[in-house]
Amino acid sequence: MAYEPEKKCRCNPPRKAPRWISWSRHNPGRRYYACVDAMHGGCGYVEWHDPELPKKFSDLIGDLKDEVWRLTGLGSAARGDDECPVLANAGHEEAISNAIEALQVQLKEKDAEIEALKGKYMNVVMICIVFVLGLVVGKMAVY
Ligand SMILES: [Zn+2]
Repeated sequence: MAYEPEKKCRCNPPRKAPRWISWSRHNPGRRYYACVDAMHGGCGYVEWHDPELPKKFSDLIGDLKDEVWRLTGLGSAARGDDECPVLANAGHEEAISNAIEALQVQLKEKDAEIEALKGKYMNVVMICIVFVLGLVVGKMAVY
């Protein structure tokens, strides 16, 4: 692959813009550069890398993509019909944020478990300290 100079976005300071692949209905498989933070707003920088394909080919690639995603179970979660490549990923992002929410709930449950275990552990430590102190005091009383 030939060397290509990196693309910089409009952030301040400018950052290296990664290359993405659009899976929108109008530009399936067409590569573009966008701000590394495009999923969370970013600076709005978007620039196409590939030229626009004739509709005949973009339709074909779109149909093939739909079939691959259907067969691999990705379904329509990541499908976008918008021209904007950043917005085209919005459905995918929603699926990811749902997964993150589910994980956060699990994390809270585990945190509660850890707190409960800490409480139990502290009780055991306190009992041991009292026991050892009792032994020491008992020995001292003997001598
Ligand atoms: Zn940027």
